[in-house]
Amino acid sequence: MAFQGNTGLGTELAITEIKDKINELQNIHKFNIPTVEANNQTIQTEPARRPTQSNTKSNAEVTSTPRYAMIVESIDPRSTCEDILKQVKKDVDPVELGIRVNKIAKLKNQRVVINCDSQQDRHLLKTAIRDTCDRLTVSTPATKNPQLRLVGVINDLDDVKLAKAITSQNRSLIEGLTEDQKAVKVIRRAKGRTREVINVILEVSPQIWNNLKNQKLRIGYQVVSCADQSPLTQCYKCLSFNHKAKDCRNSLCCGYCAEGHDTRECQNRNSVPKCCNCIKAKRNDILHPAYSPECQEWQKWDSIARSSVSCC
Ligand SMILES: [Zn+2]
Ligand SMILES: [Zn+2]
Ligand SMILES: [Zn+2]
Repeated sequence: MAFQGNTGLGTELAITEIKDKINELQNIHKFNIPTVEANNQTIQTEPARRPTQSNTKSNAEVTSTPRYAMIVESIDPRSTCEDILKQVKKDVDPVELGIRVNKIAKLKNQRVVINCDSQQDRHLLKTAIRDTCDRLTVSTPATKNPQLRLVGVINDLDDVKLAKAITSQNRSLIEGLTEDQKAVKVIRRAKGRTREVINVILEVSPQIWNNLKNQKLRIGYQVVSCADQSPLTQCYKCLSFNHKAKDCRNSLCCGYCAEGHDTRECQNRNSVPKCCNCIKAKRNDILHPAYSPECQEWQKWDSIARSSVSCC
């Protein structure tokens, strides 16, 4: 589900974001100065936004920071990224307009991505570029909605009823949201801890995601936990990312011991786990299951998947 409709552009943007994030973190830890260098642009970052306490935050919190990106392209195919940037800088003055720009990055195929600090900043800059730069086009990259997981739900409500329970039985948590923001869609039912219960995966608006994650929700006659759900797809046949088992062309690999059998039939559960993905990536730490959120490869791909999700 996670990568459905994802484009090469999404992944390219995500990789740019991760590189920037790594640079940013390195700068913070090494020098503790509030600037990042990206493509020769020294851009001031707001101190309050910096993930200085990343060690105490969950991976989800660190990677789901807001980003308001726009793609600027030229209608002239001969224009380079530098030409596009030069024209934007000549025609639009962010100082006069008070627009907060966080990052600028060059993409393949003569495109420039500009990240703003808020939806409003992005709107202002987009409008300014559209109004003054007649040879440039601006677009907003497609983003997906975030996901939540309801843990241990008794499997007796249909999808419509489940979605309705969230809004009708938990009114205090969604007060003040518009009808659009209250949108909840059941996208999958997964096996629960016991036979009697299931986990329900929901796709929701960024606002409802913010309000409901880490809360207890009333669903029918139950009270269940609601947790952030990674948008990452991991194949349960080969344990690689971004495809499902039904589309898998790789050989079987056990998610617990990295040997060539189905994870569910693993006979090595009493030994130390080994991660096939970290072995392949030649990482030092391989003593964990390949599906563990502690896995560095899992975290890398989770960040990439999350960077094309819009969160408020
Ligand atoms: Zn696979
Ligand atoms: Zn095994
Ligand atoms: Zn691993």
